Amino acid sequence: MRKYKCKICQEDTIYKYVPMKQWKLDVDCILCGKCYSRRIHEYYPGKHKKINKIR
Ligand SMILES: [Zn+2]
Repeated sequence: MRKYKCKICQEDTIYKYVPMKQWKLDVDCILCGKCYSRRIHEYYPGKHKKINKIR
C-alpha cells in the first residue's frame, strides 16, 4: 500500500487528504487525517456544533 507523507506533521499516512485552497498551502501537498480535521476546525470554528444544534 502506498504511503504519503503529511506536509504538516511529516508522518506517513495511508489516507490522502488534500488541503482546501483557502488554507494557502501547496495545491499538491498532502495531509493526514489528523492534521486535516484539525485544520477544518481551525478554519470553521464552532460551525459543526451549530449544525448539530439545529438538528
Ligand atoms: Zn499530519
